[in-house]
Amino acid sequence: MAPSLDPTTQQALAARLRFYRDLGLTELYRRPVDQASTTTLQQNSAVLPEETEAGVAVEASDGPDGSTVIQENETISPRKAPRASTPNADSTGLDDREAALRVIREDIGDCTRCALHKGRNKIVFADGSAHARLMFVGEGPGADEDAQGLPFVGRAGQLLNNMIAAMGLKREEVYIANVVKCRPPGNRTPEPEEANTCSQFLFRQIDVVKPQVLVALGATAATYLLGQRQPLAGLRGRVHAWRGMQLIVTYHPAYLLRDPRQKKEAWADLQIAMRELGLKAPAKS
Ligand code: URA
Repeated sequence: MAPSLDPTTQQALAARLRFYRDLGLTELYRRPVDQASTTTLQQNSAVLPEETEAGVAVEASDGPDGSTVIQENETISPRKAPRASTPNADSTGLDDREAALRVIREDIGDCTRCALHKGRNKIVFADGSAHARLMFVGEGPGADEDAQGLPFVGRAGQLLNNMIAAMGLKREEVYIANVVKCRPPGNRTPEPEEANTCSQFLFRQIDVVKPQVLVALGATAATYLLGQRQPLAGLRGRVHAWRGMQLIVTYHPAYLLRDPRQKKEAWADLQIAMRELGLKAPAKS
């Protein structure tokens, strides 16, 4: 008999399944837990923590009719795929990238270069791995980010975390930053002067991390990365060759919270990123 799940795990699993459903992945079936493989997976950290505890995991794949199937009690396939970040440090043990990022943060200092500093609580520099192969760029901090000094920690951040997990990655394996590092009042879109003043630091961060794939979350990130304002619809769904990297444009998670029907489109964009990174995409029948 399948082990019963504790309430916390049940809630976590329900949230994960709701998220997959929002992505349009609706066909699910259960398989019995194989205790031996569960143990192996735990050793390899190949399943998500909340699911590991209960011996269940979820995998998305295409069903025989081409529809998407979520399999329980399976590994998350992309986790078996190539590393999400490049190996740490050089032969001397010094981590040049982390040091270089620290220098950028020091250069920002207690910034007063634009008007956004007046209302900020904390400068939101970035989060994640200096060695990430995948980087997300958002617009600017909201209230939660301003309070905590970390990007994407509010509701939109929860959704971004789910998107990262659906790609088979952990948040700490990717790098996350914003166009502006101080919260615009009332979460308004940054003014061009603010974005242009601040984006020099974003560009320096990108140059240090050198991700293979950069995902622009929303129109502001796309505009200031590509250097031109264009409707998102014309930019999504393809790879832009950008400064030796692959840039993919998708919807901002805050927009997806307002219009969850677009999550399926966002998932299609993220699957392009997965393909470019060599992460295992759902199998075609
Ligand atoms: N929205 C963003 O664009 N960035 C954050 O860090 C949080 C919300």
